[in-house]
Amino acid sequence: MVIPISQWIDNIPRGIASKLNFDGDSMAPFVTDYGGINRAAPPTAIFCPSSAEDIAALLRFAYDSDSPFPVAAWGNGGSTRGQAFAPGGVVINMAALRVGGRRISVSVDGMYVDVGGEQLWISVLEETLRHGLSLRSCVDYLYLTVGGTLSNGGIGGMVFRHGPHVCSVLELDVITGKGEMITCSPELNSDLFYGVLGGLGQLGVITRARIGLRSAPARVRWLRLFYTDFDSFTRDQEFLISLSHPDGFDYIEGQALLNHQKVDDPTFYSNEDTERINRLAAEFDRMYFLEGAVFFDSASEADQKVEGLLKQLSFNPGFAISKDVNHLDFLNRVHIEMTHRQSSMTGDDSCTTCFHPWIHILVPMSRIRDIHDGVLKGILQNTIPKGVILFYPMNKNRWNDIMTGVAPDEEVFYTVESLWTASTEEEWKSFDARNNEIIEFCDRQGIKFKKYWPHYTTQADWERHFGLTKWKKFVQLKQRYDPKAVLSPGQQIFKVIE
Ligand code: FAD
Repeated sequence: MVIPISQWIDNIPRGIASKLNFDGDSMAPFVTDYGGINRAAPPTAIFCPSSAEDIAALLRFAYDSDSPFPVAAWGNGGSTRGQAFAPGGVVINMAALRVGGRRISVSVDGMYVDVGGEQLWISVLEETLRHGLSLRSCVDYLYLTVGGTLSNGGIGGMVFRHGPHVCSVLELDVITGKGEMITCSPELNSDLFYGVLGGLGQLGVITRARIGLRSAPARVRWLRLFYTDFDSFTRDQEFLISLSHPDGFDYIEGQALLNHQKVDDPTFYSNEDTERINRLAAEFDRMYFLEGAVFFDSASEADQKVEGLLKQLSFNPGFAISKDVNHLDFLNRVHIEMTHRQSSMTGDDSCTTCFHPWIHILVPMSRIRDIHDGVLKGILQNTIPKGVILFYPMNKNRWNDIMTGVAPDEEVFYTVESLWTASTEEEWKSFDARNNEIIEFCDRQGIKFKKYWPHYTTQADWERHFGLTKWKKFVQLKQRYDPKAVLSPGQQIFKVIE
């Protein structure tokens, strides 16, 4: 049992006492995350560090205390199942490290950037682009922190070529569950380095990451190609991810539109395109679009490349929509669209109290037809989606299996994400019931999926998630770097050891 911090309040080291806030009002932002539904007990205190040393001092105190207490780094609260909660313990408000200047430093010669774990990707990109450099791989939504993302993996439409974010990391500064500050890389303390990447915050708090960069393109040709035939859609996606640089697209994703779902995104489509696409959607129960992008410096070269590629694809004739945008607007497209959508919403849809019961699984390519038939045509056959269903493949050889994060055991696998938005708790439950049906379906059919951004509550499920070999290694690393299991309790993997 964890003893409430209020009972040892007198023992708090002087250097960090003023950075702990016990005031009930200060807890409010840290008891609900993006998911909106998880109601764990509140933390006892919020910690606002001014430096990485402050975090080390807090963790040393938590570890050395007669009654060790849980501590969770809170990135930007982008979790959906309470993963950054610390019931009864201390939440580290990483945003406090963003006050007073960005901890972001670009090395043009080294082609890398050193960033604080608390930084948002949007800030990282704004800084690197000032030097003509960009990230190799990038999440779809840039208002997530570097530390929170690297604790999961960081996937998006460039993963097929460059791997997830974790594969671009060159070096980390990590504060372990014992309060030690350790620099690690593939050469130095490599067990900690690979353990932390995709390690769900279990081995340490990332306070700095060195991330490899690439030259930034001037512009991006952004395309959406519509399909009414699932096999053509997936065949084209798989063909495109098989092409290597400089052939092919630089970014590939895709979405499924169910039950005559309409498109409604004025940040991408003209009114005329919207009407045309929605007329097609009215005819088909399911429709799909492949989203691609070509990064370019010369428009004529992009014209030539895109023209050559489109000839080899089987989308519905006349349904290739494209536009040219600058690189940052492309990478920031989800935020731009979300902001636009929110500003035009009213009433219940305005999302002042939105819930997000998301499900995100990685599925071997050999079983993607089963997902189509059992999930899109089956479980979701009467669902009018509120939100998007992402559906796109990636290459396993771009992932590094030595890291803690896991992926299916097949050369190509798909990400399938139902990113639901619910306006009421009842609606949340109804979407979540379907999420559970999807997982049960996969289990029944023997589909060897992996949850990305996983959420489990029993050790047996975690063991199954990691697979026995990786699980044993993870447990050993936990014993070495966080032996009292104080870190990130909201993941529900280990319990604090007294
Ligand atoms: P939090 O939710 O605050 O924390 C997540 C976990 O990481 C917690 O366990 C926390 O304790 C731990 N943690 C936080 N900071 C650190 C740190 N510095 N060191 C160690 N552990 C830490 N993911 C993708 O891969 N691709 C996407 O395109 C994508 N899009 C998203 C879009 C939206 C709108 C949202 C809400 C999420 C999206 N995600 C995506 C998921 C995202 O990767 C996770 O939410 C991730 O946890 C990052 O969010 P965060 O920085 O707010 O971390």
